Amino acid sequence: IEESEKFRIEYWALEEAKLRRMPPPKPLAGRIALVTGAASGIGKAIARRLSAEGACVVVADRAGPEAAAVAEELGGPDKAVPVTVDVTEEQQIEAAFATAARAFGGADLVVNNAGISLSKPLLETTAADWDLQHDIMARGSFLVSREAARLMRAQELGGDIVYIASKNAVFAGPHNIAYSATKADQAHQVRLLAAELGEHGIRVNGVNPDGVVRGSGIFAGGWGAQRAAVYGVEEEKLGEFYAQRTLLKREVLPEHVAAAVFALTGGDLTHTTGLHVPVDAGVAAAFLR
Ligand code: NAD
Repeated sequence: IEESEKFRIEYWALEEAKLRRMPPPKPLAGRIALVTGAASGIGKAIARRLSAEGACVVVADRAGPEAAAVAEELGGPDKAVPVTVDVTEEQQIEAAFATAARAFGGADLVVNNAGISLSKPLLETTAADWDLQHDIMARGSFLVSREAARLMRAQELGGDIVYIASKNAVFAGPHNIAYSATKADQAHQVRLLAAELGEHGIRVNGVNPDGVVRGSGIFAGGWGAQRAAVYGVEEEKLGEFYAQRTLLKREVLPEHVAAAVFALTGGDLTHTTGLHVPVDAGVAAAFLR
């Protein structure tokens, strides 16, 4: 065997060994995600998880500086960009998708997560409460999905749209008529869009969390106090209370919701659309309050 041939064989062996040592490609490598409400709580956890799995992420939130901080944490302009967007404003939504196109070339994984909770008893719920709640969650997610579908259809690469709805989309809880009604609206948007967009390879699924107390701005901003009063527990003990009423006796955290988003979009569930995945440690399954 000639000296040069020997060298070639050694070189190939070295290259192969290098390839074997290379980490497998990340499941979301090459995907471009846009997550609304990604500056805080569940949305932030989703942005972190999708980024860790290889996606480029548009961190969309009306809280601009907080969104910028999340994008920075995820590695800056090559990996994540912030965009200040109020999901009640059509033009701002169009601009957010234009940012995704400029920064990364498009978007093929869109998460409708932005939300507020005006939890009040029926007789205290004003028409303005109803309108604001619906503007942000029902109308806002419709507008985001419509823009997402427009872009995904033009790209002809299929895609995923995920709604962060709620256990309350299906089950009634006390004192949150406006919030729960918008979650039911979102749940039906999942089915309607799954029906309309399936032929374009666009899958639409939902995640129904419940009781994500720690890390949730919604809970910290008043819902926690309201829920604590409804259930007759101290606010600091609300997380524990929610955990104890679950089948698994486990607290649900933002990262558990993010895990469901990844499970729906990250690889194997290629033939699943129109589904709602509960992330509630068993509350809905057992019809617990
Ligand atoms: P959060 O307050 O921490 O996050 C909500 C984010 O949405 C915030 O960053 C906020 O700035 C943003 N946002 C609000 N209105 C907006 C608008 N008009 N335009 C753009 N961004 C806007 O709360 P969270 O608990 O993380 O909630 C996230 C989602 O999860 C919500 O849709 C909520 O209804 C849903 N959810 C939460 C729970 C829970 O237990 N925390 C349970 C079920 C569903």
